[in-house]
Amino acid sequence: MSATLADMLAEARRRFTEAGIVDPVTDARLLVAGLLKLSSTELLTRSAEKLSPEQIEVIFKAVERRLGHEPVHRILGEREFYGLPLGLSSGTLEPRPDTEILVDTVLPYLKDLAKAQRHLHILDIGTGSGAICLALLSECPAASGIGSDISADALRTAKSNAERNGLQDRFQAVQSKWFENIQGSFHAIVSNPPYIASNVIHDLAPEVTKFDPVAALDGGPDGLDAYKAIAKDAVRFMRPDGILGLEIGYDQRNDVTAIFEAKGFRCLKSVKDYGQNDRALVF
Ligand code: GLN
Repeated sequence: MSATLADMLAEARRRFTEAGIVDPVTDARLLVAGLLKLSSTELLTRSAEKLSPEQIEVIFKAVERRLGHEPVHRILGEREFYGLPLGLSSGTLEPRPDTEILVDTVLPYLKDLAKAQRHLHILDIGTGSGAICLALLSECPAASGIGSDISADALRTAKSNAERNGLQDRFQAVQSKWFENIQGSFHAIVSNPPYIASNVIHDLAPEVTKFDPVAALDGGPDGLDAYKAIAKDAVRFMRPDGILGLEIGYDQRNDVTAIFEAKGFRCLKSVKDYGQNDRALVF
């Protein structure tokens, strides 16, 4: 079979549209560009080029996977987060652009602390791919961080992402449920914990339910289990001047604030995401 880049893009787009994939044009472009390692400009300027049979085969296989609802970045095996390329694995939640808001929210506090401290120590609970911790480390040269996770697979991925981004000397992966195996006191504790109520997980898109690890989504009966577990012990691991930054579900602002205020925390900031939903809290 002979086909140009433009032919294969059109074919992917056509199949995605037919199957009701939400954003067929973007997904076709991201997928084909990612598989062929082309920029979005090259996708246009090289559109008349003929592809090799191997390239065509690779694209067809990936299109099939997308039709099975696998997200584009899972198929490609990586996603950019806060400008860092991050590998994904079955044990890691796919980092979302909304989570960059937590990084943006926490950074000014950290930069402020860095003025008075020579060295900052960060803990990212449930680090997954390492996204939040590595983004903070890349922005704060004076910081080192622990990424903890219950999943050994996630920790392997987080470690390799640290290496990939030249942050391995400042990043430590620790297998731990909440604070169980954590030692030290931190200038910043951050987390995007599982926060979906168990009984609504099946309502999420198949892209999420079939491909994100359920342990990274399931927040128990009311979606708040993780916050309660973190709030229970967090004070013992915080520096007196430290901050705690959390991603939250769109309807959890009041509940999560109450959980932490009951443990003596004071809410410093609440931030909305691109969809105008509550998304991050700083204590
Ligand atoms: N933001 C994710 C979703 O809506 C959930 C992530 C989480 O539970 N931390 O699918």
